[in-house]
Amino acid sequence: MIYLDNNATTRVLTPIREAMLPWLGEHYGNASSSHAIGQVAKQALVKARTSVAKLINAHPVEVIFTSGATESNHTAIFSALAAQPQKKRIVTSTVEHSSTLLLLKHLQTVGVEVVYVPVLPTGALDMSALREAVNQETVLVTLMHANNETGVVFPVAEVAEITQQQGALLHVDAAQTAGKFAINTKEIGCDLLSFSGHKLHAPQGVGVLFVKKGLAITPRFFGHQERHRRGGTENLPGIVGLSTACALAEAGLTEKQEAMSALRDYFEQHILAKVPFAYVNGTEARVCNTSNICFSGLNGEALLNQLEKNGIIASLGSACTAGGTDPSHVLLAMGLRHEDALASIRFSLSCETTRAEIETAIGVILRAVEDMLLQSAA
Ligand code: PMP
Repeated sequence: MIYLDNNATTRVLTPIREAMLPWLGEHYGNASSSHAIGQVAKQALVKARTSVAKLINAHPVEVIFTSGATESNHTAIFSALAAQPQKKRIVTSTVEHSSTLLLLKHLQTVGVEVVYVPVLPTGALDMSALREAVNQETVLVTLMHANNETGVVFPVAEVAEITQQQGALLHVDAAQTAGKFAINTKEIGCDLLSFSGHKLHAPQGVGVLFVKKGLAITPRFFGHQERHRRGGTENLPGIVGLSTACALAEAGLTEKQEAMSALRDYFEQHILAKVPFAYVNGTEARVCNTSNICFSGLNGEALLNQLEKNGIIASLGSACTAGGTDPSHVLLAMGLRHEDALASIRFSLSCETTRAEIETAIGVILRAVEDMLLQSAA
């Protein structure tokens, strides 16, 4: 199997698993217990928080451990609404992750005004529409750092200047950039930022919410843990895994990023050179690992099944909406026709993806496309 669905989730790397194992065995303490066994857990928690904070250039007190980006996104949005209760306007984009869009849809039913800023056909955020949308009534702008389907990166630092001028908060959903892209919360100037461990080779079910110092958080779960901002006994094995993943991601980040984008570009060039009706969705600056290709005229699901039969694992789009037969909301928002959205496949690499795997994947894809063309001509 060649796994090219790393935007859905990544494999837990061996050093990360090994770092976690003692926390599933000999170290079993509750970090809130005052006895020695608990204190060992507490020390590990402190160390992990420091390592995670370093990846995003934050202070450790600005890091809250959560169950993942979904929870972090929700805590961020509810906290922003509570921070300035007189304001009820949230600005977001049309291409956000379902965890954000579904919560905002719910909030609209209880009196929150939500403005959806469109994207251009390139996948870029329409910055002039965003500037118009953010005003003094705006409590929060919530945007993804990079899109999970196309990899297109949004200019969040530029957005931060606008939110600061208008007295709004900025939340960044960095689920697809953490570990693949240098994230500097101070340079971005965001107030809140979310990510999930499993997108950077840590296990599923652990994540982070960065909260700028001084900003109050309204917990989703009440309890004394995480400075009363996220109750519940900490998932210590997951947190240790996540902090190890952050340290590993940070080491040689630029080199890994360059290697991944070179492989991704090589992949795309070979597919596009041989398949004249194929094109790339998302032509703006993208995160290094993502390639979303429209095989215009073909049935994406049939092609995907054909690829899987031949050992190539990719996806039609977000795993969080996969399984449905609806075209991707992201691709439709970029102006693709329904048929083209349904003919698009997302390939997402990881730091483990090798040149040999990419060569094999190119061969399999080209053969599958040829077979489908022959079948449709027959
Ligand atoms: N935001 C984005 C951009 C994502 O890609 C994902 C995961 N697909 C999430 C949020 C949610 O992450 P999780 O399922 O780990 O909570």
